[in-house]
Amino acid sequence: MDTTDVSQQSGDRDRGGLDLTHRLLVQVPADRAGELWSVGDDDDGGLVVSGAGALTAASAGARGTTRPVLVDRRRYAGKNRPPGTVRFDISWIEGQRDLNTATVLTDSGYVGKGDHAALAAILEQTTRAGDNVCAVLPLHLSWLANPGVKHLIVEVNHHEVPVALVLEYGSDPLGTQYAVTGLKHLLSQARVPVSLLCTDISGLGAMAYGAAWAAVGVTSSLRHLYPASGTGPPFRALRPRHAIVPRLMTLMNAERIAEGWALVQRHDDVDESLWRCDCAECGNRTMDRFATCTDLSLAAHNVNILGDLHQQVTSPASWDQAISDALGWYVWMQNEYHLTWEPPAFMNAWLPKSRR
Ligand SMILES: [Zn+2]
Repeated sequence: MDTTDVSQQSGDRDRGGLDLTHRLLVQVPADRAGELWSVGDDDDGGLVVSGAGALTAASAGARGTTRPVLVDRRRYAGKNRPPGTVRFDISWIEGQRDLNTATVLTDSGYVGKGDHAALAAILEQTTRAGDNVCAVLPLHLSWLANPGVKHLIVEVNHHEVPVALVLEYGSDPLGTQYAVTGLKHLLSQARVPVSLLCTDISGLGAMAYGAAWAAVGVTSSLRHLYPASGTGPPFRALRPRHAIVPRLMTLMNAERIAEGWALVQRHDDVDESLWRCDCAECGNRTMDRFATCTDLSLAAHNVNILGDLHQQVTSPASWDQAISDALGWYVWMQNEYHLTWEPPAFMNAWLPKSRR
């Protein structure tokens, strides 16, 4: 064994012992893991490599890194997804142990509406899968409404294994009040760590309300689970690119950001600062650059902004405040630019008008 192998093994050991609590992870597709490997490479971050090629991609990239790396097979996604009653693939579980991932994620099938057998099968298999295994629960959104959420709480507490939710919906799953209310209820009642995979800015809200960790996708398809019935994103010739506008706390299409920037260019007397970003990646450049920058630069910006928010949002009150501030900037935008763009649905779901 040469010295490189020794240091690699030492890195693997360090990585396996890492506590994931309060970490904001970045979820990347396996086929682009090499390109995006450096995103969010800081002390309280980590990476979730996703898809059928995730183990191979994670093996290639993880050697020597000391931050947490997880592997999500996403067998639950796509049109031919198996149900949650499908057996775990032992070699997939063992592959993660060999790689010494920070926790082992189960290669679960999908849990449809009212599919109690699928939910129980995943949790039961997880209890038998050994130490440090987290049950991935890809859920139809009705599991966050009554009576689904009550049953979910009973089941996870009964099986006593950590769980990571993947929420299925045609648009933002945490953009509806019932889902957010159900998630808050689950987080307050669960006696096991509850985390979120494949989420977006709402992952910070979930952590504020007690989620152990959250993984935010770098692409729309990794920010939630589209239904198999084909109500996914509308077809586009080009992959849509979304960047977070920091003050608006909104993942916005790069074309729309460019539209906002172009509008302020036509007037001399308006404050253009909303469309500049001073994160380490952007260096105060204007945000119209997101329409043409590299995917790596776009992802680095998004992760920087999420990292800043993560520092700021440490409690339900600070999450509410962050939403309230963003809504204030929407009002400012309307006054300053005469743009009446709707705030994203998650803001009203987490902070309904009645509580503002
Ligand atoms: Zn930036």
